[in-house]
Amino acid sequence: MGTARLGPAERSAALAQLGSAELDVVVIGGGVVGAGVALDATTRGLSVGLLEARDFASGTSSRSSKLIHGGLRYLEQLNFDLVREALQERALLLQRIAPHLVRPVPFLFPLTHLGWERPYVGTGLVMYDTLGFSTGLTRGVPGHRHLSRRRALRLAPALRRTAFSGAVQYWDAQVDDARYVMTMLRTAAGYGAHVASRAQVTGFLREGERVTGVRVRDLETGTDLEVRARQVVNATGVWTDEIQELVGGRGQIHVRASKGVHLVVPRDRIHSHTGIILRTEKSVLFVIPWGRHWIIGTTDTRWDLDKVHPAASRSDIDYVLEHVNAVLSVPLTRDDVEGVYAGLRPLLSGESEETSKLSREHVVAHPVPGLVMVAGGKYTTYRVMAKDAVDAVAHGLHQRVPPSCTDRVPLAGAEGYQALWNSRERLARSSGLHVARIEHLLQRYGSMIGEVLALIEEDPALARPLTGADDYLRAEVVYAATHEGARHLNDVLTRRTHIAMETFHRGLAVAEEAAGLLAGPLGWDDEQVKREIEHYTKRVEAERLSQEQDTDHEADAIRLGAPDIVPVAAPETNLA
Ligand SMILES: Cc1cc2nc3c(=O)[nH]c(=O)nc-3n(C[C@H](O)[C@H](O)[C@H](O)COP(=O)(O)OP(=O)(O)OC[C@H]3O[C@@H](n4cnc5c(N)ncnc54)[C@H](O)[C@@H]3O)c2cc1C
Repeated sequence: MGTARLGPAERSAALAQLGSAELDVVVIGGGVVGAGVALDATTRGLSVGLLEARDFASGTSSRSSKLIHGGLRYLEQLNFDLVREALQERALLLQRIAPHLVRPVPFLFPLTHLGWERPYVGTGLVMYDTLGFSTGLTRGVPGHRHLSRRRALRLAPALRRTAFSGAVQYWDAQVDDARYVMTMLRTAAGYGAHVASRAQVTGFLREGERVTGVRVRDLETGTDLEVRARQVVNATGVWTDEIQELVGGRGQIHVRASKGVHLVVPRDRIHSHTGIILRTEKSVLFVIPWGRHWIIGTTDTRWDLDKVHPAASRSDIDYVLEHVNAVLSVPLTRDDVEGVYAGLRPLLSGESEETSKLSREHVVAHPVPGLVMVAGGKYTTYRVMAKDAVDAVAHGLHQRVPPSCTDRVPLAGAEGYQALWNSRERLARSSGLHVARIEHLLQRYGSMIGEVLALIEEDPALARPLTGADDYLRAEVVYAATHEGARHLNDVLTRRTHIAMETFHRGLAVAEEAAGLLAGPLGWDDEQVKREIEHYTKRVEAERLSQEQDTDHEADAIRLGAPDIVPVAAPETNLA
């Protein structure tokens, strides 16, 4: 398999292909689930298309806690099957599928109750450490260990002495969620899938009751096309019900949204060598190491407002600060917050009115012939969801389709990663970049690092870091457009890099430089460069202002004041 590019030319070619021949499967939604379905189907030999209305992973799949985990909370709810499945996936992703993108991360669990709590948490963690062994693989992360308060304080000096009596440390894994989805789509495209972003499904093609394809609007050009497919998969997360309405609302799945907000603070604001997990009255709060930052979250509240840009309110931010400050010796203030992001959990509804108790498990349904729906679940188990969805597709195709093989399909950049990692000093010498820079690049591109270095060889000015976001090289901005499907400034600053949440200026200080770098590969004239910067600036201003509002309604109204650079179309009304 060659490593596919997702540049502008490839997008046009994919749309042309999508409009020409009937495919076996077309997937709606370019989040982790849709991307997983596309990779699963294409590696079973099926012809596949994938349509994403906005940017890849711009929905929930770039707004998670970025953990690949079994979920200690589900263990406490005695949901052993869910935990076992997720831990097996964690081992697979860490060791075989994406060792360049998924990394172990330690968490300290401070104990606050003397007596019962240590044996209780300890027993849970013994199970957590053993449930995840899957055939042929080790756990992939170190086992847990018990710590006295003194030893815990050595690992996390930021903790307030009186806030806890001892601790247990355990390991999970973390991922750059947006990059993982994009990399999976590049992998799928390498196996032949036709993938397009800013391509919105606006309706279904029908023959009688049967779904025979989708109507699509290329939002970049305003052109409409029809994509014929023997099976259509709806993998639209919190938009599931809207797609369902396009076929007459007769689906069996209902999804509702629960908002989760994260804060990003600089690493030096919390002196700790480990992540931290805290119990809250409803759930848990994570303090997660993230490069030169910490990600802290999350909240869990019902959300019925705009799904594209869920807004974080002042109350959300205060909630997170209040809970983390309960254990810190030097409390964080709002001035310490560099970035804020909010995401919507796609929860299967109906089981309970309280969102934190709604099911994280997934369902697959076949509401009408030709249409498969998959929803729920969590990031960690996307591969299992995808496999189940494609099994349903195979059933609908009435032909023999090979079983899923994605447990043995490494993502683009995984093959050869370890060898390159071992050679990073040599790579640093030959490229003239610092070894820390090479490590950063390897953990973002894996063995595709050579493609980024080739851009630098052609134009040495691209070896410079962005002025104002020096974790990222200018070459990475160009590469995002030529290879990674970024089509707008926001895509690059928010998802190909995370400058939008990792800097106090939230990307404004680099917007001009980045837009200038994107202009060539994306064919922008001066007018478009200006529009991109203006839209980005308005977005940041609206987000900042919304985060000053007390309620969800106020925050939402203000965030909606900043329009998208490529607005989506109104869907067709019910075609059934
Ligand atoms: C705050 C928070 C924290 C989380 N933390 C974790 C975690 O640490 N670990 C974990 O395992 N899970 C976590 N999750 C859960 C996980 O992130 C989600 O389950 C997962 O990302 C959902 O992916 P998805 O593909 O179903 O949805 P999405 O990523 O939302 O993808 C759906 C896509 O469909 C597209 N779409 C919608 N309508 C159309 C249309 N008409 N045409 C074309 N495209 C369309 C959307 O634009 C969107 O990109 C978290 C979730 C939240 C909200």
